[in-house]
Amino acid sequence: MKRYNDLKSFLLKRYGVKMVKISLDGGFTCPNRDGSVGVGGCIFCDERGSREKELDTNDISLQISKKVEELVQKKEAEKFIAYFQNFSGTYGALETLRKKYTAALAERVAILSIGTRADCINEDILRLLADIAEKEKVDVWIELGLQTSSDLTAEIINRCCKTELFSRAVDRIKSYGFEAVAHLMFGLPGESEQMMLDTVRYAAASGISGVKFHAVYIMKGTVLEELFNRGEYKAITRGEYLNIIAKAIPLLPTSVVVHRLVSSCKRETLIAPLWVKDKPGSLNAIEEKFERDNIVQASGL
Ligand code: SF4
Repeated sequence: MKRYNDLKSFLLKRYGVKMVKISLDGGFTCPNRDGSVGVGGCIFCDERGSREKELDTNDISLQISKKVEELVQKKEAEKFIAYFQNFSGTYGALETLRKKYTAALAERVAILSIGTRADCINEDILRLLADIAEKEKVDVWIELGLQTSSDLTAEIINRCCKTELFSRAVDRIKSYGFEAVAHLMFGLPGESEQMMLDTVRYAAASGISGVKFHAVYIMKGTVLEELFNRGEYKAITRGEYLNIIAKAIPLLPTSVVVHRLVSSCKRETLIAPLWVKDKPGSLNAIEEKFERDNIVQASGL
């Protein structure tokens, strides 16, 4: 029995071939780091943004073409998702953005996916993306870091972006026919289970087309690490995470694609929780819990 609308099955159904996502470093920054809306960034964000690995080149075309070639040779995928992952991928001058996006559209790239913030979405950027999508025949996904629907928590984590901007951004993104994917975090400082589930309800009600869940990671050099070291913050346990995921999935409409149940981490700079280093183990534990407790997407609506 299919318990949730997983990304792999969704892609296979829509594109008919195996697809792989390639993370790119577009050399972006973030308005919450450069002083435009805030300084220092969110308290869990390390200075490399959400980039998982060191990329050995700043040339976007080279980053993607090398990876596509390698994966096609290994027969691991036939089509690809070019993903601007680190910092805010829609933050920059329009012409610069155009160059970066088009540089990512190597042969076999079917989807341009961009991670960003709700306050970095506007009509000019969406028009630019619509133009690229039409000319280059690619689909566009925009991944928005919501993390929490609580403006109180948003203040604690220094998000510097009101929650209401998220649903407005989702509306705008969808009006261009693009997919809007929400990033949600479980285990933020001061958040109860109720608050985390409220975030899931809020994101679902906003009309998102996809969601990525992840546990809060304490990374070296972040403000969250300082709170952790002073004993003012405790990392979420695997048991707590499993329980919350099992309660979150039933709150999502079947149309929402679950892009990720647990994320990978930069092992070298991870302080806690250490259980996230074992991603396959965590995924297995989640799947087992879904089976055992008969967890099914949309069953709680
Ligand atoms: S919005 Fe994203 S990139 Fe910017 S500081 Fe927060 S986590 Fe980092």
